[in-house]
Amino acid sequence: MEKLEQLYEGKAKKVFATENPELLIVSYKDDATAFNGLKKGTISGKGVINNRMSNFLMGKLLEPKGVATHFVEELNDRETVVKKVQIVPLEVIIRNISAGSFAKRYGVEEGIVFDEPTIEFSYKNDDLGDPLLNTYHALALKLATKEEIETIQTMAFQVNEALKAYFKTLGIDLVDFKLEFGRLSDGTIVLADEISPDTCRLWDDKTHEKLDKDRFRRDLGGVEDAYQEVMRRLMGE
Ligand code: ADP
Ligand code: UDP
Repeated sequence: MEKLEQLYEGKAKKVFATENPELLIVSYKDDATAFNGLKKGTISGKGVINNRMSNFLMGKLLEPKGVATHFVEELNDRETVVKKVQIVPLEVIIRNISAGSFAKRYGVEEGIVFDEPTIEFSYKNDDLGDPLLNTYHALALKLATKEEIETIQTMAFQVNEALKAYFKTLGIDLVDFKLEFGRLSDGTIVLADEISPDTCRLWDDKTHEKLDKDRFRRDLGGVEDAYQEVMRRLMGE
């Protein structure tokens, strides 16, 4: 499969057309941003890790469990064929443990293990800084239908159960993560975008060491090593 014209360049990936109007090629970059693009940098080797990790989790873990995803085929270290979707402009965030904006917003410490996972939505809109919204707001803004939102919620919790259990076998606590969903041409909702240390908080379950993008956001050092460590545990390398 060949890349045709570049359709989009985002903060972490480039998106290309292919001969097949239903398929795209995504190419993962080493560029890193945080705080809605205010902080910029490079995490060497990140694109390779995010590409391979996202493909592994979608193709080998979630698809066999019946979660439909956009994943089609890994072309090489950085490039993957995916089904083209119309992205539902919602960032779907699931949390198992308090951290990040949850801890800040509600004035609690990080690391509180919840009895039940939480779900929240942000409006995917960089100009507005991805504002938090509830399902009524999403309906009012016609971002998705009621049925689509219900499907997305069910799928997001399924993804959480599968990922949480799998990461635990690797000695990693899945603290929280962001998902994006999209509509195929026939309207079917599938999981899209990526699942990686850019989009998940991953803590070593013994030392509580952060193995994710918070090392970049908070200038903790050892960013590349943390991404490598997750990859090593995930794929034995
Ligand atoms: P951002 O747009 O937030 O800077 P990226 O750099 O990751 O993010 O760019 C990838 C873009 O491609 C995102 O806007 C994402 O929503 C979109 N995308 C992800 N998967 C698909 C897909 N299967 N079809 C169409 N668009 C997708
Ligand atoms: N997240 C993401 N992209 C975003 C916002 C959040 O991938 O635009 C992920 C983030 O990596 C974390 C989870 O979603 O795993 C929850 O993030 P939070 O709301 O705590 O925001 P942050 O602390 O990143 O500002």
